[in-house]
Amino acid sequence: LLGAMQDWPLRVTRLIDHAAREHGGREIVSRWADGSETRTTWAGVRRDAMRMANALRALGIAPGDRIATLAMNHHRHLVTWYGAVGAGGILHTINPRLFDDQLEYIANHAEDKVLLFDRQWAPIVERMKPRWTTIEHYICFDSDEPARAFEDWIAGASDEGEWADGDEREPCMLCYTSGTTGNPKGVLYEHRSTMLHALTALGRPVLDMDCRTVMMPIVPMFHAASWGIPWAGAAAGAKLVYSASNDPATVCELFENEKVTSSAGVPTVWLGVFQHIDRQGKPIPPDLKQIVCGGSAMPRAMIERFMAAGVRIAHAWGMTETSPIGTTGCETPDWDELTFDEQVSIKAMQGRVPFGVEIRCVDLGDPTMVLPRDGKTSGALQVRGPWVVRRYFKAEQDATTEGQWFDTGDVGVIHPDGTLQLTDRTKDVIKSGGEWISSVELENAAIGHPAVAEAAAIGIQHPKWDERPLLVVVKKPEAAVSADDLRTFLGQHVAKWWVPDDVAFVDAIPHTGTGKISKKDLREQFRDWQWK
Ligand code: ADP
Repeated sequence: LLGAMQDWPLRVTRLIDHAAREHGGREIVSRWADGSETRTTWAGVRRDAMRMANALRALGIAPGDRIATLAMNHHRHLVTWYGAVGAGGILHTINPRLFDDQLEYIANHAEDKVLLFDRQWAPIVERMKPRWTTIEHYICFDSDEPARAFEDWIAGASDEGEWADGDEREPCMLCYTSGTTGNPKGVLYEHRSTMLHALTALGRPVLDMDCRTVMMPIVPMFHAASWGIPWAGAAAGAKLVYSASNDPATVCELFENEKVTSSAGVPTVWLGVFQHIDRQGKPIPPDLKQIVCGGSAMPRAMIERFMAAGVRIAHAWGMTETSPIGTTGCETPDWDELTFDEQVSIKAMQGRVPFGVEIRCVDLGDPTMVLPRDGKTSGALQVRGPWVVRRYFKAEQDATTEGQWFDTGDVGVIHPDGTLQLTDRTKDVIKSGGEWISSVELENAAIGHPAVAEAAAIGIQHPKWDERPLLVVVKKPEAAVSADDLRTFLGQHVAKWWVPDDVAFVDAIPHTGTGKISKKDLREQFRDWQWK
């Protein structure tokens, strides 16, 4: 027996139809690298996306072809998300900060047919063209040369027509992991998985978006699908504010000018914002009501500062393989009875799953042993659900184990109420005398010291203990602190045997293409470190 409800395949083009119809006048603002601004609306984005879909068809693009972008956040990039999938194509967002070998690998592996790029990335395009073997058409988003400019290209196409139709299990987007080990791996999102993810993202525990939200996503559109904001934003009918530059002064100016209520980005972005407003002697922008933060652990001091200013924190954990929403730090039922400190402690963890995601931890040595949710026993974090990867693009085998569990490479504990607390990544835990030290907890504790701007802990070989932690620290400008001061401070916050044996002060800590501390580069940098 089948049910008797209507056919309504969960295809993401329905999101832009809805936004244009129900929230057509809601604005999409773009700030360009030269400081100029463009303002359009959800109706304008739909119109241009339809033009683009028709222009792609005129180029001979067939359903399933990959349409790549190499671009920062702006409305033309947003148009491309919907235009590419609207033509039946698969949107492939490429991170311009990758190394040449990775850029070569992923565009060829994806077999991209079209590449749309920002003028600022033209040098990459020129350099990589001879190495990219499948791209037939290059279109610049903001070129001075008319023949290759995006606006002129779509202006010649009709804004009428139909979106490509098909099954909801067809792919709509391809995102590659940054490939910290080996080649990057492609995750092929479906219309259905993306739609379910978008509907979940709207809710209070995740992005908490509706048509009154003014969202400025700082997370780039090339990083883990910009955490789903281009899709969820359309479902909500939110105003979106985009900036091609993430420099803190521009971000703060846009927060103020556009009355941004909600923003999303990795922790390093907020460190920059704090430093900027401190220099200016300004408060946290008053309209800001919520920060969605993830990608790496949000330091406690950062959470405290935002919450003290009345900003709600949604501390999220996820990865490209989970579309990316996994868990978010939402309020617990007894929230209002908790002290400020207790609330901060909850927000400092990675939160609970929304409906649609299941998590468990298994023993690091024996993955068949499922660990209790006791808030103490740490293990390898596994995840499953309709928006979690099953098989990497073009892989011959599933990436999951029995029961469709996907191993995340993260290490954590699950508390009795389901709250996930990440303690590390499998590659970064520091093994000392047969026990594990969490590099993340050391970093969080260190960042709580008033003189510390950024900190990273890595394991360095030790003749007696196998590994011991070394703390690498960037001091705040003009702040003075010694290694011994810091070690004393840390001794008050972590177990004595966790306290790093030494502290190395540096001018800058290396970051990956997605703004995270690059432990791989740091380990390389301190490979020959000698303990005193
Ligand atoms: P990559 O870091 O390889 O580029 P992703 O951007 O998909 O890949 O990042 C996923 C990883 O980022 C997770 O597996 C986890 O290690 C880390 N991560 C994400 N969110 C958090 C968080 N809130 N706290 C700590 N780590 C996080």
